[in-house]
Amino acid sequence: MVSQITSTLCWVLVLIYTITTFINCNVVYGLAPSSADLDSTCNFVKSSVSSCSSSVSKENEDDHQHADDQYSTQRQNHSKSVYSCRTSSSISETTSILSMAKNPEMVKWIKTIRRRIHEYPELAYEEFETSRLIRTELDRIGVRYRFPLAKTGIRASIGTGSPPFVAVRADMDALPIQESIEWEHKSKVAGKMHACGHDAHVAMLLGAAKILKARENHLKGTVVLIFQPAEEAGNGAKRMIEDGALENVEAIFTTHVSTELPTSVIGSRPGPLLAGCGFFRAVITGKEEHAGNPHRPVDTLLAASAAVISLQSLVSRETNPMDSQVVSMASFNGGDNLDVIPESSVLGGTFRAFSNTSFYRLRQRIEQVCNCGTSKSIQKCSAEVDFFEGESFYPPTVNDDEMNEHVRNVAAGMLGSKNFRVVPQMMGAEDFSFYSQVIPAAFFFIGVMNEQVGSTHSGHSPYFMIDEEALPIGAAMHAEIAERYLSEHYR
Ligand SMILES: [Zn+2]
Ligand SMILES: [Zn+2]
Repeated sequence: MVSQITSTLCWVLVLIYTITTFINCNVVYGLAPSSADLDSTCNFVKSSVSSCSSSVSKENEDDHQHADDQYSTQRQNHSKSVYSCRTSSSISETTSILSMAKNPEMVKWIKTIRRRIHEYPELAYEEFETSRLIRTELDRIGVRYRFPLAKTGIRASIGTGSPPFVAVRADMDALPIQESIEWEHKSKVAGKMHACGHDAHVAMLLGAAKILKARENHLKGTVVLIFQPAEEAGNGAKRMIEDGALENVEAIFTTHVSTELPTSVIGSRPGPLLAGCGFFRAVITGKEEHAGNPHRPVDTLLAASAAVISLQSLVSRETNPMDSQVVSMASFNGGDNLDVIPESSVLGGTFRAFSNTSFYRLRQRIEQVCNCGTSKSIQKCSAEVDFFEGESFYPPTVNDDEMNEHVRNVAAGMLGSKNFRVVPQMMGAEDFSFYSQVIPAAFFFIGVMNEQVGSTHSGHSPYFMIDEEALPIGAAMHAEIAERYLSEHYR
């Protein structure tokens, strides 16, 4: 009898010890320490609580599905260190995402990343060093990823490796613009500049990665971080999708810096936000002749002029005035000899619309007008129209109502409702639209306008500048949007 009681007591004690050890090993801490802090803390933790490294969460499915993933030994070791660090009880579990983002170490780290990328801008599909920098930081944080997608793109994953999957995206490319502002971290590459803030987008998403990795046990699904090339030209988003960036993903979010909004103010709207944007160039071909013999040539200049006039009617006479659209001619070239009617003339421009239906209708009608209006039966010419669909062809960016509401709720909860604004539609375009055509998506702006630091010039200006104080806010927005989405859609 006594031996039975003793035996039972022993089993109870063993059970209590096991549960206590398990709980200690799975406490999630709210602060992402710096790499140096990690190393020193982890060395202590690893030597004192070696058993806790066995509580590593389920590995991400990406690791098993793709042989081309590149995982360094350093990252694997570091990843184990990060997990082991969860045994430290020095950091409060209740620390909020925003305060994690505003931690001075974190702010310094995010700013440093943004400045390093700003100094060495790379154009579309040439983001090799930017991509390498991102992968190095992901290695240090212990985040797994798939690489390459679309040449330089990265798909990283944090969480359970199971559904739901929610994505957050940043673009990496710069512009062929010479920076005109003298400052400590001015572009060191002549003729290239991060004049659209994509350096900030990468830094904010890496900040979110660090926050989410530290809170991985809070995630009720998987956050997919998409670092894409070629937003400015080359349809990087489209190629990312073709390479599997959205695999299993059910919703996607992104942000873009804006000098129209004060620092850290969030702006968005439901439905169409950014216009679809296409370009076209029509080559009209006829027959060259001396200008003194106007009855003998097939006049390409006259045919091209007729096409320009007809194209004006696509918006003014074929479009509902409540449905904003644009067709603008921007180029018209014929011969340069004042005594010769040229064999060919070239005209071109841009067209924009806020719905897919209107956008693709304009594309079709521009082609018809250029072909028919100059055809052999009317002007006796032929036309070939190029829409550059492999380079710069952006459908409208349409925000899903529910996803937009999610962004608004997160922004209002984190920053206060006065720091969220419904913004007007804009004729600018973004290749995030390719994602929004496939799954529910929301695009929002984050303000970086601050007169005191001179960040008042719009994107694509050689004087473009951002207020870096918005960077941690952007990181926190990404992290909170993703984490809360998973909690609300966990099945
Ligand atoms: Zn841009
Ligand atoms: Zn941009």
